[in-house]
This record gives sequence, C-alpha cells and structure tokens, in this order.
Amino acid sequence: MNPADGAMPVRDEAQDDRAQAIRDALHDAIVERRLAPGAKLVETEVGELFEVSRTVVRASLQMLAFEGLVKIERNRGAFVAHPTPDEARQIFESRRVIEPEIAERATERLTDADIERFQAHLKEEARLLAERGPNARRAAIKASGEYHLLLASVAANQILERFMRELIARSSLVIALYGQSGASSCARPEHADILDALIARDGKKAADAIRHHIDHIEEDLDYKVVASAPLRHVLRL
Ligand SMILES: [Zn+2]
Repeated sequence: MNPADGAMPVRDEAQDDRAQAIRDALHDAIVERRLAPGAKLVETEVGELFEVSRTVVRASLQMLAFEGLVKIERNRGAFVAHPTPDEARQIFESRRVIEPEIAERATERLTDADIERFQAHLKEEARLLAERGPNARRAAIKASGEYHLLLASVAANQILERFMRELIARSSLVIALYGQSGASSCARPEHADILDALIARDGKKAADAIRHHIDHIEEDLDYKVVASAPLRHVLRL
C-alpha cells in the first residue's frame, strides 16, 4: 500500500485482543491493590510475563493511562497512578454529582430480577467480610466497588456506567493511598440502606442514601498520610 494514499495502517486484531487482555489483568491488579500506587510497570517485564511484544505492552499501558490508572512519564516509563489529594477530592466530587442521579434512575428501572441480584451481592459482600486473609480482603474490596457498578448497570445508561467504571477504579487507588481503616471503606449496612430505598421506589431517599455513603467513604480518608508514598514522590524527583 502506498503510504501517500493516506490509508490507515491495517489493524492487527490479534494484537488488539492481547493488549486488551493485558489491560484487563493489570486493571484488576491495580483495583484489587495487588499493585501499589506509584509502582513501576517495566515494559520488558510485562512483555516477558505475557509473551508479547513491547508494542502490545505499550498499547495496554496507553489504555490504562487513558483511564487514569497509569501514568506514563517521558524517559521514565509507566507507573501505577499515584493520585494527589487534589485529584482524590475531584474523584469524590464527581461521584457526588453522578451517583445520586444513578440511584434515582435505578429506582425507576429496578426489576424483581435486579433486586435478587442486589440481595445475592450483599450476601456475598457479607461472606467475604467475615473471611480472614489478604485474598478475602481483596475480594471484599472488589465486591464493594462492584455494588456501585451494579447500581450503574440498573440505571441503564452506558455512558454513566463507563464514567462509573473509571471513578470506582480510581477510587480504589485513592483508598489504597489515603484510607485509614484499611478496609474497603464501603460500609455494608449503607449498601443495604440504598437497596431498601430502591425497593421502596423512593428516588430521593436513594439519592440521599448514596450521598451520605460517599461522604462516609471520603471521611475515612486522611490526605495528610504520606508515609506510604514512594520516596521519589515525597521528594518530588
Ligand atoms: Zn459502597
């Protein structure tokens, strides 16, 4: 093909799939806090682990950078994002704008099947919280975020759902950095309160309940905590 034609390069679908799979694996590791904020992601290491070229690794890192979970620094490489207190506040500010609206929409659309899904989810959250060990804790953290995504899926607006995926993933980084209780920072009884308001078809109450819940999550954060930050961030190098 003559490049002068201005034709787009042919996309390699197999490569796209592999980049997506690596993005998914890294995304889960970041959200479940197996990878710490600020951790370096070495291209060659990721490439060897997944047996793919650096081009594919780069594509997956670009996806994560676009979602705000990875920061790519010129000449230094890629790192798991390390949200500043200001970014953290903006993330929760956005959640306070979006989630009450999602809760109101969900109230209007809730079906009996949705109620069953929520109830099964709350049971699973309770089971995971009762378990001990780091794996159970990771699973509990993931499940508490998924509650919010379930709410977004019931609200049935794909754009809002996509925003929520990003906000929940970034929230988990913020909680990893600034959370004080070390727990998921989602109090489970509040998840039940939100569901009660949905079942009662009380949109205003559902919106208030989720606002209250987000306030609580943020109250558990201490933006002054810097001890866990990597030295290079502390020293601004
Ligand atoms: Zn929650």
